[in-house]
Amino acid sequence: MVVIDYALYDEVEMKRPHPCSSRSKRFQIVRVGADIKILCLGCGNVMMIDRDKFNSRIKKVISHHPAPLNQDR
Ligand SMILES: [Zn+2]
Repeated sequence: MVVIDYALYDEVEMKRPHPCSSRSKRFQIVRVGADIKILCLGCGNVMMIDRDKFNSRIKKVISHHPAPLNQDR
């Protein structure tokens, strides 16, 4: 398995889209701990996912950010 290096506030692309109306695959990591919290950049909802699941579902890091992104874009 390829391990992808990610950090807090990174914008990432997931393998599967968020099941919301935007079908966005782009998320921002908003918390890193035992669980990872990711914010859907399509609808702005946050979902919690355990680290193992996140590691298997992340496709790539799109960009690094020092802080939370503006949610409405
Ligand atoms: Zn969404």
